[in-house]
Amino acid sequence: MPELPEVETVARGLRQTILGRRIISVTLGKTDFIDDPVALEQHLPGRRIEAVERYGKFMLLRLSAVSGETRIASNGDAAASLLVHLGMTGQIAPSPAGQPLEKHTHVCMLLDDGRELRYTDARRFGRIAYLTAESLAEELTGFGADPLEVSKEEFAARICGRRARIKALLLDQSVLRGVGNIYADESLWKAKIHPARLGTKLSRKEAEKLRRALQEILQKAIVLRGSSISDFLDAEGEPGEYQRHHRAYGREGKPCYRCKTPVRRAIVAGRSSYFCPRCQLSPRGFAALPLIGKNGRKTKRKDAQDAEKSRRRNGKSRREPRVAEKR
Ligand SMILES: [Zn+2]
Repeated sequence: MPELPEVETVARGLRQTILGRRIISVTLGKTDFIDDPVALEQHLPGRRIEAVERYGKFMLLRLSAVSGETRIASNGDAAASLLVHLGMTGQIAPSPAGQPLEKHTHVCMLLDDGRELRYTDARRFGRIAYLTAESLAEELTGFGADPLEVSKEEFAARICGRRARIKALLLDQSVLRGVGNIYADESLWKAKIHPARLGTKLSRKEAEKLRRALQEILQKAIVLRGSSISDFLDAEGEPGEYQRHHRAYGREGKPCYRCKTPVRRAIVAGRSSYFCPRCQLSPRGFAALPLIGKNGRKTKRKDAQDAEKSRRRNGKSRREPRVAEKR
């Protein structure tokens, strides 16, 4: 699923290509992922796209009020927004209106320069919604801080003291908005924090290390136009490049970039989580999924011994209760 860097990449692409354009008409295909399809058809024509913003993992196309004296001013004609969430497989990009439609094109917005802003989504896990100022304000309540802007103090306040696993806290959009599975694992690896540790067990120093790692990684990923896992493409139809810089995510069994220990996988917060069992000391009693060796044999027992050795080596024993994972 596109996370903050991928959505930011698409938003930047759209800013360069469709800003200031007016929407002339709207044609819809399948609409089960659209909040109120009729509202799109009724309220989008006549509005200009004044800004493209990213908010967490979705985009907001800020739309002007409807122009023209013939329109009777009513609530429906005031400035509004179009929320676009790409879900798993959503793509949004302008195309020449005459160009044949790609498969799974479900929204076409004809623009005043003859192009069409098209939304395609094979799996339709995305979401599109027309929002008035009032419904937008309602939509945005309950979201956490933007990870690129969050201060040291606010980050610590949102993480430390929480009796939830740090991976779950990073993924919780009411704690931070925009982080998903890839960048959670990457930042935890960089900060040398095991994904299953509890927020309440992190020191202020560790929390600050994590905040810095997260910001560095997100910024670098934006520069490289995100990670193309499965089929993410930016607004120009180009894949991102950050997947080449992944250090933990998707690297089960491959050597850690710091210490060469094979990267392991565990289910934390209901998600596959990748970590180095040596660099990221696990809370007591937490077991990674067995690593399947070259001969197909599980190597669980040896790992448990290694973890115990590493704990002794580090001179620490972390007593963190086992928490049932939410699936
Ligand atoms: Zn390591």
